Amino acid sequence: MSALRESSVLNDLELSRPISFSLEASSIFGRLGKRLMVILRSPGCNYYQRRQGGCSYCGFSLLTEPRRRCTPDEYASQLRYALEASCAHDVDRLEIDLYNSGNFLNDSELAPMARSALAQVYASVPNLALLSVDSRPEFINTPHLRTWLTSHPRSFAPELIEIGIGLEVFDDDLRVTELRKNFSRQDFASAVKRLSKTGVGLLTYVMLKPSLMSDERALSEVVGAAEFAVETAARYRVRGRIALEPTFVVRGTTLEGQAMKGLYSPPTSDLVVEAVTRLHHSVGAVRVGLWHEGLDSLRDPIETTTLQKYNLHQDLSVFTSF
Ligand code: SF4
Repeated sequence: MSALRESSVLNDLELSRPISFSLEASSIFGRLGKRLMVILRSPGCNYYQRRQGGCSYCGFSLLTEPRRRCTPDEYASQLRYALEASCAHDVDRLEIDLYNSGNFLNDSELAPMARSALAQVYASVPNLALLSVDSRPEFINTPHLRTWLTSHPRSFAPELIEIGIGLEVFDDDLRVTELRKNFSRQDFASAVKRLSKTGVGLLTYVMLKPSLMSDERALSEVVGAAEFAVETAARYRVRGRIALEPTFVVRGTTLEGQAMKGLYSPPTSDLVVEAVTRLHHSVGAVRVGLWHEGLDSLRDPIETTTLQKYNLHQDLSVFTSF
């Protein structure tokens, strides 16, 4: 399966190149295509930079470039570079995931001019089937969305866009206090309601065992969160899909401290497969996170290959010999 993927990690400070990018086979709304993940050279998440710190498991600060803010043109060049170097223009059906290691819709992290410059680049990709970005719910507000959407060429359909929100778990106390995400299911639902006025779709991340808990609790949290997300998207008639993120320990995080004391261990392969199976039966096919963001991961390559097969074919039978 590795032959399906090209990747490049750039270590210089060339501001016209992203921090990293990768192109891999992918299922886009049930049809085969390729997914281009681009990690932009951005200053990172304001929420993480608070005095109290960010989400307890988050290692995205390792993928940021805090020394210099890129100009809109430099952001556009980074995306252009990834498209050209990966030969993504030759792909029949392309998903572009643009990550700024934080909140794409927060003006303090990515200025409206930078979003607009990026929009001019991806909107001109003829084979684009999906553009995916991430944001905390509070930045999914009507003025931000309107400004961004109106910065696209007239011919560009908002339905090609999807915004990812990390709901992660069902239980509000767990999400707010232990994961330090500081938003409730109600906040999530309000953001989805705001999305409903735009045509933009929703990707909900649910996270398997993001803190100390039993395996059974981990399963019930991801299934509960996914069911809530699907029901909420249906209520507001927003197109929605689910991404399962099996937790891995990133250096410098609260989770790493707990793991080093022997208190925490990440989900096993069996637990990941059980979570995929339960979610598949409960909310339909999900996309499983495969640790491509450029952060360290100790996952077994066989497990990764099998999960990639599931992602491509959305068929639980890939796990029969696992
Ligand atoms: S998970 Fe997202 S919101 Fe939380 S600290 Fe990391 S980048 Fe920021």
